[in-house]
Amino acid sequence: MAIDIKGVLSPLSAIGTLFEHPRTLTYPEVTKDILVGYRGFHINNLETCIGCASCEEVCMNDAIDMIHPDKEYNPKNTSGCIPRIDYGRCCWCSLCTDVCPPSSLKLDNICIHADCDPDNFLYMPKNIKNIGEDVS
Ligand code: SF4
Ligand code: SF4
Repeated sequence: MAIDIKGVLSPLSAIGTLFEHPRTLTYPEVTKDILVGYRGFHINNLETCIGCASCEEVCMNDAIDMIHPDKEYNPKNTSGCIPRIDYGRCCWCSLCTDVCPPSSLKLDNICIHADCDPDNFLYMPKNIKNIGEDVS
């Protein structure tokens, strides 16, 4: 019976990787630079959101529910509701931000979220006037 020398020796080539730089990051101590324009979590300027639910209507994945917040942010929000995103459903198509009349709803480039509880993927967009400015 012929011995497959190449098949026997090829796994040993993995030993060479012991002397290479690691290809993984020690997250969260080290993070990767996020590309400009990357589609991450939603942010919403609640002072200008008018509660029109256009974002909810356009979402083809039913990823948006309109809910009542604890306090009033915008007197011109006639429904009194603001959107909440289900990241178990969202595909980051950004249609909801495209149709938002006052352009209050946007996508930030923050995109890392890990949790074992599915309820924690129901996410209230941070109240942010501009990307990088948290007004909650
Ligand atoms: S980005 Fe797309 S899928 Fe996600 S909530 Fe907005 S419309 Fe829905
Ligand atoms: S985020 Fe925009 S589209 Fe959605 S309810 Fe508020 S104003 Fe309307």
